Amino acid sequence: MTFNELGLERALLKALNEQGYERPTPIQEKSIPVLLKGKDLLGVAQTGTGKTAAFGIPILNNLIIENKTAKGKRKIKALVIAPTRELAIQIGDNFNAYIKYTNLKAAMIFGGVKPVQQIKTLKYGVDILIATPGRLLDLMSLGHVSFKDLKYVVLDEADQMLDMGFIHDIKKIITKLPPKRQSLFFSATMPKSIVELSKKMLGDFERVTIKPQQATAEKVTQGIYFVSKQNKPKLLIHLLEQTKNDSILVFSRTKHGANKIVKKLDNVGIKSAAIHGNKSQIARQKALTSFKEGKLKVLVATDIAARGIDVDDLSLVINYDLPNVPETYVHRIGRTGRANASGTAISFCMNEERPYLKDIEKLIKQKVPHLGEHPFMDDSKETETKPIQKERKETSNNQKKHQSRNKNKKNSRSRYSKRSNYKSKKNFTKKSKLGDKS
Ligand code: AMP
Repeated sequence: MTFNELGLERALLKALNEQGYERPTPIQEKSIPVLLKGKDLLGVAQTGTGKTAAFGIPILNNLIIENKTAKGKRKIKALVIAPTRELAIQIGDNFNAYIKYTNLKAAMIFGGVKPVQQIKTLKYGVDILIATPGRLLDLMSLGHVSFKDLKYVVLDEADQMLDMGFIHDIKKIITKLPPKRQSLFFSATMPKSIVELSKKMLGDFERVTIKPQQATAEKVTQGIYFVSKQNKPKLLIHLLEQTKNDSILVFSRTKHGANKIVKKLDNVGIKSAAIHGNKSQIARQKALTSFKEGKLKVLVATDIAARGIDVDDLSLVINYDLPNVPETYVHRIGRTGRANASGTAISFCMNEERPYLKDIEKLIKQKVPHLGEHPFMDDSKETETKPIQKERKETSNNQKKHQSRNKNKKNSRSRYSKRSNYKSKKNFTKKSKLGDKS
């Protein structure tokens, strides 16, 4: 199937052609006809499968047609909600490329920056809004966003939203949307809570599934090194010195760990930068841009910050730590081998991480090949120890902490919303900066 055969508007076809999209990816082939018919959709797919265009193309095609007879100020007709700023920016950039030859206007709103410019843009009028939940709720509660004319809503990476504690924000936003709309719901995994949320959001829907194991098995060459914790930095440096790859993404499970990796690399003259939630939006964007432009060879990221990283020539991903949630492994290696490209993912595994590896292999239904000996082999006996249990518990405690933090954030937001009736919009600028971390 080609894009021409989907009967899309010429302006859209021209832009897709310019992007080098020749034929739809599997998720696009399955989703676009369903969405063009106006049905709701539940998409089970990870980033890297061409998901953005799968929901973007049909929505934009409809908007182009509807726009031909539109008059007056632009109204928000499509809303895309994404969990992180990086992903929101990524989606916004893609949408802007797709609407290049149209009269449509897209805007992105997210936290971590002053809202003044975003408010101005909203006031001026946009057709498509791409937003993170926290900032969107803030601007909604202040009356800067009207969804009266909304026809299309997309919830992207819903499982990630849940992990980040955004579930209540999302539910709140959904209640403010017109009931007559086309709804799209995307998630890489489908835990029970996500299924429940999708039922709340979707009407009569069709389900499209692109299995993660399909994506990982078919496109990404995977391998694993067994290495002790203290030897991980040496092995990383060794690999980075050996490899000719230009853009290497290194995953760390924690923010602190990411900073430590950058320091260790710096000590041996390897330039890198870390992106994670404790870095300012400006620092994150700067690091990402240098990485995308090829000025920075190594980017060290935590999982949440890595969402939305889409670099053309990213051919190597290194899992410095194995993730304790197996689906995260799929997300990570999906950073390489995007769309129709192929890539490589190398993981480091210390004894305590072996149960994680088992979980991952169970999920992807394949063994990750062992890469054998390396110069930093550890002689210690391998045992599967209890600490893993503890760490799992700590993770869930962390999640609880995050959720309770989010609850506090929510409370302060709703308290603020009440106050905002009395305060000027100018004052908001200062407060929202503190409140929105999305
Ligand atoms: P996504 O899953 O939306 O993040 O897309 C992953 C990458 O695939 C992005 O770089 C897209 O520009 C690219 N892409 C999406 N659809 C196609 C297509 N049909 N042909 C080639 N590349 C595509």
